[in-house]
Amino acid sequence: MPGSAAEAFANRYSNLTFVGDYYNAPKNTVKSVRQFVERLYEVCLDRSSDTAGMNDWAGHLADRSISGSEAAYGFVFSPEFKSHNYCNECYVEHLYRAFLGRESDPPGKADWIKQLESGKTREEVFNGFALSVEFSNLCKSYGIELGKGISVPKYGTIPTGRCSGCNAEDGVTVFVKRLYRVCLDREADNRGLNDWCNQLWSRKKGGTDVAYGFVFSEEFQNKNLSDEEYVEYLYKVFFDRGSDPEGKRTWLGKLQSGSSRKEVFDGFTGSKEFANLCNKCGIRR
Ligand SMILES: [Zn+2]
Repeated sequence: MPGSAAEAFANRYSNLTFVGDYYNAPKNTVKSVRQFVERLYEVCLDRSSDTAGMNDWAGHLADRSISGSEAAYGFVFSPEFKSHNYCNECYVEHLYRAFLGRESDPPGKADWIKQLESGKTREEVFNGFALSVEFSNLCKSYGIELGKGISVPKYGTIPTGRCSGCNAEDGVTVFVKRLYRVCLDREADNRGLNDWCNQLWSRKKGGTDVAYGFVFSEEFQNKNLSDEEYVEYLYKVFFDRGSDPEGKRTWLGKLQSGSSRKEVFDGFTGSKEFANLCNKCGIRR
């Protein structure tokens, strides 16, 4: 009826659309499961859900074939998330948002990064967040079971390129580029760099194998180093410093009394310093 209160109401709200779900409301649980999944898209992948993905995750959570922590794992270790190559800092920051629903605090964040740099895998750190009281409560509030966390692989996930969050170079690339500079006194060539990095990323080789490849390369051998120069190079390569007189005397003594250069090399790669360097770069020794 023109001029009626009903028409005035209709005109006033004509620009609003009600979401279909709102009136056809399925069971409460299904709705909150969808909200839980939507949240994971936002905090892990920084985007809203796509229909197929949403239906898939929500279906599995609703029929309880996966738990809350397994769903979170599916996001944090998805090809899409991995393709960002987040550095340790950006990785930890995402976990704070995803599991604790907040930005990191500096001491807490520093502690997680320290753990990653001393050899803990990203999967182990993931469990630390996923099994927190905060995430357990969050799951409960959506009517979802937390689950038991994920099994930790032998070798953890590491970035394989520059971090899309802050542009930091990944540890493997840093490790190999450094060997070019310190052992061969030159910048890496692309082909060599890619080759070494791929072997480390795929875990076909560890840090010792790669260092061996440099120190016993033709290019390095062609330097025709004296024993003294050789030891000095190893200090730079493995300890990132010049020699101390006592240490140098010990190594030279070994060489002069018949130890091979390979044996001295093994002595350096067996050191704590080299283990630390490998851990920091996310590679096995
Ligand atoms: Zn980063």
